[in-house]
Amino acid sequence: MLYTSTRGGASVTFEEALLRGLAQDGGLYMPESLLPAPEGWREATSPAEVAEVVLPPLIGEASASAVARALNFEIPLVPVGDVLLLELFHGPTAAFKDVGARSLARLMEVALAESGESATVLVATSGDTGSAVADAFAGLTGLKVALLYPHGGVSPVQEEQLTVAREGVTAFAVEGTFDDCQRLVKEAFADPQLKALKLTSANSINVGRLLPQMVYYLWAIAEAGRLLGEGAPLRFVVPSGNLGNLTAGLLAAEVGPFDAAFLAATNRNDYFTRYLRSEVEEYAFSPSVPTLSNAMDVGAPSNFERLFARYGAGLKGLVASEAVDDAATLRRMKQVYEESSYLACPHTAVALEARTQRRGVAGVTDVVLATAHPAKFPEVVEEAVGVTPQAPKSLAAVASAEKQVVRVAAELSALREALLSAPGQ
Ligand SMILES: *Cc1c(COP(=O)(O)O)cnc(C)c1O
Repeated sequence: MLYTSTRGGASVTFEEALLRGLAQDGGLYMPESLLPAPEGWREATSPAEVAEVVLPPLIGEASASAVARALNFEIPLVPVGDVLLLELFHGPTAAFKDVGARSLARLMEVALAESGESATVLVATSGDTGSAVADAFAGLTGLKVALLYPHGGVSPVQEEQLTVAREGVTAFAVEGTFDDCQRLVKEAFADPQLKALKLTSANSINVGRLLPQMVYYLWAIAEAGRLLGEGAPLRFVVPSGNLGNLTAGLLAAEVGPFDAAFLAATNRNDYFTRYLRSEVEEYAFSPSVPTLSNAMDVGAPSNFERLFARYGAGLKGLVASEAVDDAATLRRMKQVYEESSYLACPHTAVALEARTQRRGVAGVTDVVLATAHPAKFPEVVEEAVGVTPQAPKSLAAVASAEKQVVRVAAELSALREALLSAPGQ
């Protein structure tokens, strides 16, 4: 299978698309064609098994096995009231970013082993992505990680997660803002003196993060078939920010193939909702605004380019969307807890609210993607519900784990020196 940029250009192999991240013309890589998956995925008994059946035609056998190894945690489909919640947060950092980050890490390890090379992953993070990436890449052969986060600019729990001492990982607390961190990453990539580190990125636009996310949609279809009877009509409700999750769902529906409706749930960063309602033109993005579901605070969702390249304005017939504000998010968290004793994270609550605002067709069961563990957002859960969520073991262990962090000024010269002499490098 070959991959091409959303902006045209030459075709590359999966390994090239993976190691480059962004195409040279600034576009995003997509598979050139999506063939129906080999038979058998509906009988799979784990997400890893789905990956072994479905991914080889797209990314090759060795890469499919790498993804299967990455997906070594449960993704249960849990009935709550009249919905099925697909809990994507049972990985090591308790958010669905673990699926993409762990897959990407193992895919890169395999690709580098083939060429005998090594690389350093450089990421700027304002929160959850950084710890998922650090955890996913720690200890892998040929790979090191440097994380940049704004000193004093992340929550105490996030800082603890980011600074856990991990093999091959260095956390840098930058004396500046998140924008400074992003600028430093760009400057470091262009710096000839850092060439030897073979810097690479692990951001959400990498195909190595996107394609493995198809697996849990197919897994959900298989599990729902066992619960409700094969072919029972479903609607996926997807809490959306950068639209990677939704894009993976639409690609999965083509590959399966399966028939399901899609409802994208956004917070007040509602460009996509307004685009689908023809209130704004394609790419007429807005600046982001902060909300309680902060992992979805994306003003300019980068995967929109993938969706538009593949489906054009036909998207408006494929996906519905609702935007939900913070007040409605808090009310929904409380109501779901009162009705079903279920604690939802703010992102999941946005989706639960969106499905009641936009009722589905009678007889269609909603599968709501639950993207984070509520214990990652204790303040919001306490405000909404008045209950302190119990942390899963992986999160609880972070508090007592050994920490390691390097303070660095927000200047390339300082970062360069630190990168070339960092303890984990
Ligand atoms: C990243 C994230 C989302 C949004 O997913 P996209 O693929 O960016 O649309 C939703 N919920 C949580 C908890 C996240 O971390």
